[in-house]
Amino acid sequence: MTDPRPVAAASAIFPQTRPGGCLCGAVRFEAVLATPDFGACHCEMCRRWTGSALLGMSLPAGAITWHGEEHIARIQSSDWAERGFCSRCGSGLYYRVTAPGAAAQRIELPIGLLDDAGGLTFTNEIYIDHKPDSYAYAGAGRKLMTRQDCLEAFGGLDETDGK
Ligand SMILES: [Zn+2]
Ligand SMILES: [Zn+2]
Repeated sequence: MTDPRPVAAASAIFPQTRPGGCLCGAVRFEAVLATPDFGACHCEMCRRWTGSALLGMSLPAGAITWHGEEHIARIQSSDWAERGFCSRCGSGLYYRVTAPGAAAQRIELPIGLLDDAGGLTFTNEIYIDHKPDSYAYAGAGRKLMTRQDCLEAFGGLDETDGK
């Protein structure tokens, strides 16, 4: 059986730039991807924000050039971070660390926004101990981190604190 999905000729070469945007097209962007790596976050806030789990790429803020920025609405989802979404269609656009520190201004970009989300590498799952037992991603070899692992690795940047 042949795979019907289009495969970009340059998709194996990183860094590379990929375009993407929201459901309605009011917000578009180009993202420079240094690596093909992406991960899943199973924390309660990402679960509610996306309706499932956040599959995202961690990028420095400067890696993304936005178009239609006037349509980006923001919610300060915790003391640590804000989440951007399209004010017209509601698509979640990014999670951005607003607190100072090593992770300041870093963005988690949902890979589902990319026009072509193929050819990427699923490398990690965080808050794995918060994932509902109703589903699990197939495959093995990913780095799995619990909430406690994350608190130790990221210096206490936890959006679920106080919930
Ligand atoms: Zn939109
Ligand atoms: Zn999360």
